[in-house]
Amino acid sequence: MDYQAILENIYREILPYAGEGKQADYIPALAEVEPDRFGISLRLMDGSTFELGDAHTRFSIQSISKVFALTIAISLEGEAIWKRMGKEPSGSSFNSLVQLEYENGIPRNPFINAGALVLADIMISRLQNPEQFFIDYIRKISDSPTVDYNRRVAESELSTGYLNAAIANLLKYHRNIDNGIDEVLRLYTLMCSVEMSCAELSKAFMCFARSNEEFRHGEVTLTKSNVKRINAIMQTCGFYDEAGEFSFLVGLPGKSGVGGGIAAIYPSLYSIAVWSPRLNSKGNSIMGMKALELFTTETSESIF
Ligand code: GLU
Repeated sequence: MDYQAILENIYREILPYAGEGKQADYIPALAEVEPDRFGISLRLMDGSTFELGDAHTRFSIQSISKVFALTIAISLEGEAIWKRMGKEPSGSSFNSLVQLEYENGIPRNPFINAGALVLADIMISRLQNPEQFFIDYIRKISDSPTVDYNRRVAESELSTGYLNAAIANLLKYHRNIDNGIDEVLRLYTLMCSVEMSCAELSKAFMCFARSNEEFRHGEVTLTKSNVKRINAIMQTCGFYDEAGEFSFLVGLPGKSGVGGGIAAIYPSLYSIAVWSPRLNSKGNSIMGMKALELFTTETSESIF
């Protein structure tokens, strides 16, 4: 298959969508991003890559970091993790407080903010230096030693993150956070502030595409079964309140972030990452979703 030609075709086909939507601005530092960037990186099992546009420009991965946090937490805690959070789609926004109240402080899934705050809490309890461990882990799986936090973005989110602070308080009230709220919010916003390029993300996500192998990194050991589970949660919960739509249009397990990135995989075949900052009303990248829809349609390579 001529993947490069397919990516180039797709780029032409999505150009009419350029200019639709706008970048996230509720985190002040994210509002400064140039909205009209677009990059895509496809990586096959043999390591060959196909790229287009700003595939090597780093951007704020935001909620895509929740997949890495889940990988670490699931590996450290095993089954016990599911006592503290569910695995069902939320059907409400990623920062919903209402649902968490109704459900007595048990987040619906690890990919809404409440769930990821619990993941941060687990890392703080289990790791000596969670901040260092988290970034080292991403550097390792992306094979990019210079990947880093953007502390200015983290500070910017922390100083305006009233809703996340409310969620953390509610979790603490229900005893689903063991450590101090400030410490948990600090690690959470740092995780979200990590900057990676599409090329680095597609490399990192290969560990979820290699579902036929055991994946190990230091203290992080992912069994085949855990890879299966993480992919299942990406499929059902990876796109905020639009996971059904993404499944319907694209048909791949994946995760998006409000920085405009989306990373997705096809088990045993490829991983793909796309970035375009303009978001739809649900918080997903408009051109990114369209590009992936066209990719799985034109290649006939969706899991369905
Ligand atoms: N740091 C962002 C927040 O908590 C992440 C949102 C996202 O990418 O979904 O609001």
